[in-house]
Amino acid sequence: MVTFSARAPGTPETAWAASMKLRALPALQLGDIESVVVISAHPDDEALGAGGLIARLASEGIPVTFIVATNGEASHPDSPTHSAIELRRRRRAEMSAAAAVMAPGSSVTFLSLPDGRLGEYITELHDAIRDGVGDGANVLILSPWKEDRHPDHRAAALAARKVARHVSVTLLEYPIWFWHWADANEVTAPWPLMRRHELSEADLRIKSEALEQHRSQVAPLSSQPGDEAVVDPASLRYFLRDFEVYVVARRDRE
Ligand SMILES: [Zn+2]
Repeated sequence: MVTFSARAPGTPETAWAASMKLRALPALQLGDIESVVVISAHPDDEALGAGGLIARLASEGIPVTFIVATNGEASHPDSPTHSAIELRRRRRAEMSAAAAVMAPGSSVTFLSLPDGRLGEYITELHDAIRDGVGDGANVLILSPWKEDRHPDHRAAALAARKVARHVSVTLLEYPIWFWHWADANEVTAPWPLMRRHELSEADLRIKSEALEQHRSQVAPLSSQPGDEAVVDPASLRYFLRDFEVYVVARRDRE
């Protein structure tokens, strides 16, 4: 299961802002990209981790395909107001809205695999990514980061890496929970593989708007216990920086 407490206070964004490790990261270099396949373990992963880069690539006319592994129905297990069925319905609608904000005209594929148990469905996820990637020529895959300490994020990364072993693609993994549990000079982080992507004002604005679509996650469902925001205001600050960080898991033609 998840090996950190999402409810406990995370590393403050002020600590990350002062991190020399982050400041020293090299800039992300992308070669010719002809299409992008974005994988979310849960609806909202993509906007949190990669919304700015997705907006940038989409604005350049690059086709974007979203593959959403689960419907995120387990986000509020103790909610007195939302059942898993209601959360599933709501989060799918939020995902479609966020995709339309980040990449108008993009396609969204919902796999509807069980939230919290993605590790049992790596083959299904792999096959869907494989279909989305086609022959892989100049394809960029964006996936949650394998070492994010969330089992579904790990499963998504394992499926993406499996595809990348057989097809010549570039695979970038985006951290999400890392910003919460890690130390600003985290010794376990793969700093040499990490890259920084600066966001333009326009891209950051689109990212912020996409995050607002995922309202069930970035705001409380109600004022009752069990309905708290999953991504609280302190955590949201990680994702509204004017840059994003990617782990280069596989580089096409390095
Ligand atoms: Zn997630």
